[in-house]
Amino acid sequence: MRTRAYVGLGANLGADPAATLAEAVRGLAALGATEVVALSSIWRSAPVKAVGPDFLNAVAALDTGLAPLELLDGLQAIEQVHGRERPYRNAPRTLDLDLLMFGDLVLRTPRLTLPHPRLGERAFVLRPLLEIAPELAHAAVGEAWQSQRIECQGPLRF
Ligand code: AMP
Repeated sequence: MRTRAYVGLGANLGADPAATLAEAVRGLAALGATEVVALSSIWRSAPVKAVGPDFLNAVAALDTGLAPLELLDGLQAIEQVHGRERPYRNAPRTLDLDLLMFGDLVLRTPRLTLPHPRLGERAFVLRPLLEIAPELAHAAVGEAWQSQRIECQGPLRF
């Protein structure tokens, strides 16, 4: 059985973020029993509740035969590869991968909450998500995210 899952990708402008996002997508495509079926554009925004360089974000739609925790393991393994590239101690994480939705599964466990708890609040998640899955507009709760500044940076090539 295959499940449609949505993954949020974020990279900090400190590194080469477009390249980091592209590598992350290649990592997703290389996960077992998993296909990347849609990709949003790359979106740029200032960090939420932090100072520092802008972020680039995107969302990927996957069809996967993995179980939710297997997929989370895969995402964390891809993050680790980039985590090891931190240029100095406590440098901002170069890559953040969030499992936004896994089919219509609702889950609250210590390791995994679905849908992702901050899914509906952030423009850098919702803009790219709604680009590839407009039918999920009901996931956009509240209006705060609509006033966040965010700019489209063009397609995510990988
Ligand atoms: P963060 O540093 O904000 O990316 O959070 C990572 C932690 O959140 C990990 O320990 C995960 O087990 C946990 N987590 C809970 N729900 C999710 C989710 N839907 N996607 C990614 N990580 C999650």
